[in-house]
Order: sequence, then structure tokens, then C-alpha cells
Amino acid sequence: MDCNSSVKANCGVVGIYGHPEAGQLTYLCLYALQHRGQEGSGIVTSTGREFRSHRAQGLVSDIFSDVNTLKKLIGKIAVGHNRYSTTGGNTPANVQPLIMKLKNGPIAISHNGNLVNAKALRNILMNEGSIFQTSSDSEIIIHLIAKSRKKTFQEKIKEAFEQVSGAYSIVLMTKNTLAAIRDPKGFRPLCIGKKDGAYIITSESCALDLIDAQYIRDVEPGELIIIDKNGLRSSMIFPKEKTAFCIFEYIYFSRPDSKVFGEYVDKTRRKFGKRLAEIKPADGDIVISVPDSSNTAALGYSQRSKLRFEIGLIRNHYIGRTFIHPIQSQRDFNVRIKFNAVGGVLKGRRVVIVEDSIVRGTTLKKLVKMIKKAGAKEVHVRVSSPPIISPCYYGMDFPTKDELIANNKSIEEIRDYLDVDSLEYFPLEDLLGSVEDGETNFCTACFSGKYPLPLTEGFTKDQYE
Ligand code: 5GP
Ligand code: MG
Repeated sequence: MDCNSSVKANCGVVGIYGHPEAGQLTYLCLYALQHRGQEGSGIVTSTGREFRSHRAQGLVSDIFSDVNTLKKLIGKIAVGHNRYSTTGGNTPANVQPLIMKLKNGPIAISHNGNLVNAKALRNILMNEGSIFQTSSDSEIIIHLIAKSRKKTFQEKIKEAFEQVSGAYSIVLMTKNTLAAIRDPKGFRPLCIGKKDGAYIITSESCALDLIDAQYIRDVEPGELIIIDKNGLRSSMIFPKEKTAFCIFEYIYFSRPDSKVFGEYVDKTRRKFGKRLAEIKPADGDIVISVPDSSNTAALGYSQRSKLRFEIGLIRNHYIGRTFIHPIQSQRDFNVRIKFNAVGGVLKGRRVVIVEDSIVRGTTLKKLVKMIKKAGAKEVHVRVSSPPIISPCYYGMDFPTKDELIANNKSIEEIRDYLDVDSLEYFPLEDLLGSVEDGETNFCTACFSGKYPLPLTEGFTKDQYE
């Protein structure tokens, strides 16, 4: 991820070893992982002698729209990356995979996550004379690998990662090798698949489905995988520790058709909705979602509550990244261009909106206004996650503490602000009770303020801004 603007880190990564169409398959995988990042995208392939690459800002479909671009990406090994997007601050230099030239040849890296000691490491390296080409913390890792005096690639990687702290699911490529590594707490997902004898490493299993690859298993927390002409070698390079899987991957980020942390996202998200209906019932006529992110939880809520599921909001899927606001006088335009209310569904009804999360509260505030204008008689909000009170330092793109609505307002004050008849959140204990070993295996820092990794001295999110 980059650190020259606001922290934005939850990206999608792909690595393929041993397929004659590695570049093309990586392109397809990036398509499947588009939801993990829309700011920029890139593919680097290795022919065995040299790297070929194409990286740019924008969506996968735009960046690789010229078929000749893909044709040039020859080679049997490839890595790809989708960068996460929020407004502003992205620079072409930070589009991944990053490529650096080392003594033993080039290396390319795709990183999903966020290092918590990046600033300290960068300062040390710069004081020693290192020159950085990007403001990305992923580049720090390459510097550490380059400086290692160890003999083998595996030992160099191990030495580099022993100095790094934070969240990382990473694929690395040299001319003849593909490596994958996941941090010892396993914050972000990463899995292994196979197709036609080739290995595929990817953030989410939905990418494997698209290319007809078989899901093999997750890359374990703390595991280093090296794939070369001798096959796949696995080593656990850190002492085993308690994991801290990001529960927000289940709540919002991953695609429902993916299997992450050993379980299907759809199944888990549906469980959240069902349990929410049990403990936080609502006196309504219909249940609606805020498409697409809360669809699955809303379905679960509808099933358990026996309230009819309706499609009350239509989402426009064709909004480009560079949408220009043409009419300054029109308010709430960014929400209105994305959603519209279905009058016939909402008019005269007591509407239960199931939303996956409230961050700043801006989306819901505008949607409630829209839903009321369409004639809803009552509006009840049920949120399939607990109140978000603390920033994420491990890769999820939340704003600073001050901007989190639940940090400044009580639930009753939020209900009042949203102007709804009732508002209920999913309690943390029920959230954790809905996933395997929730109490011990998951990171809940954004809801509890309990950070599973100590932040290095002086670390604040603002240091990156
Ligand atoms: P809010 O409008 O309250 O700031 O954000 C809540 C909305 O954003 C919800 O509809 C939720 O699905 C979505 N959301 C939750 N987390 C994220 C995130 O990390 N990035 C983006 N772009 N949207 C998010
Ligand atoms: Mg949403």
C-alpha cells in the first residue's frame, strides 16, 4: 500500500507459476478481485530472462482494454495487483506490482495489507543511504531483501520479514521463482489453487473459480511458500502465535462467493443476518438491503424474521472512476448517482434497512432521506456489525477516530442523526459467536479498540497523510 496520502490498503493480489498463459490468467483473476481495489492495477510477467509489465491507474477493464497489451505479457510466471481506492492522492509510481532491480536480478512485489512499523524502517533505511522510488511501504520490504547478506532467496526473505510488523499477504516474483507470504497473524486472506499443473496464489477464492482452478488451501499465517522448478516448498518462518483474522473481510470486504479464513463468506454473512434478526427484531413490513454490500446479510435477516425481502434500492453499476459532478446546485449527488429508490416497493411500507456497516454515517443519512421521499411510512435500520469506534492500522480503509460517527455519538444520537424510527447494531459477542473460534482467532480492533499488534512508538494513521 502507499503512504503518501490517506492510508488505503485493502488490495487484491495474484501470483501464478507454471502456466503458458500466466499473464492472461492473472488478468482474469484481477477482474474477479476488482472489488478489492479500483484505483490502479498491474501485471508483471517473467519470461525467465526478463520481466514484462503493464501498470496503470484505473479499472482492470480499462487498463487492459487493448488486446495487444495482454499479448505482450508473455511468460510462465506472473504477479498482479489491484489497488484500493478512495479519493485523491494516488500516484502512478505507487501502482503495483512494484518492480525493483536487485544484484541478482529483478523482483516484483504485490502487497495487500499495511505495515505498522513502516515509518521507523524507512527512516533507518534512508539514514543508511537507501533511495526510495515510491512512497509505498511495500518498497521497504524489497530494500530489506536486497540488503540481506543471507545466501538463499528463502533466507533473505525470512530475514527481511523478521524486521517487519503488520498485516501482509504478499506475492513476490523473481525471474524464476514465485513466493507467497502471509503475516503470522493472518490479518488478510490468501489462498492457493491449481490449474493444469500450475499454481495460483490469490487473495480470494472467487478468482480461482473464474479461471476454473481448484482451491487447494489457504496460505497459513506465518507461512512462506516458494515455487520454482523443483515444485512448491512451504516453511513456517515465524513461531506460531494467536491469529487475528480481519472480521471485516466477512462483514464487508470479501466477495460472498469466496471462501476466506476457511469458510464461505456468503454462509457467514447470512449467519450474521439471521442472528441479527433473532436478537434485534424490527416491526416492519419489508426488509431491504443497500446493494451490493449488505445483500447477503439482508437475506439472512429476511429469512429468519419472516419479513419479505424486497429490492427497494437500485444501484447503478456503471459509474466510472472519473465521474464529474455537472450540476453544483444538486445536493447528495454522489449517493443519488449510485442509488435510486423504488417507489412502488417503499411507498406506505414500514421498511427495515439491513446495512453491513456504518462508518461516517453519510451513505445511510442520504439513503434514509431518499427512502422517506419515496413514501416509506417508517424506517428501521439494522446493522450487521457493531459500532466502529477505532481506526484500522492493518489495512482496512477507515477514517481517523474523529470521523467515525460511533466514536462521537451514542446509538440514540446516531438514530436521531439518521432520522430513523429505530436503529440497532449487531453486538460484538454475537458477531464473534457466528464465526469459528471468534473470540480467539479474529481481530476486532475497529469495534473494541483492542489492537492485536502493538503499534510502534509514535505510530498514528496521520503519519501517512
Ligand atoms: P459511511 O457512509 O457510513 O461512511 O460508510 C458506510 C457504507 O460504506 C456502507 O454502505 C458500507 O457497505 C460501505 N463501507 C464499509 N467499509 C468500507 C470501506 O472500507 N470502503 C468503502 N469504500 N466502503 C465501505
Ligand atoms: Mg455498502
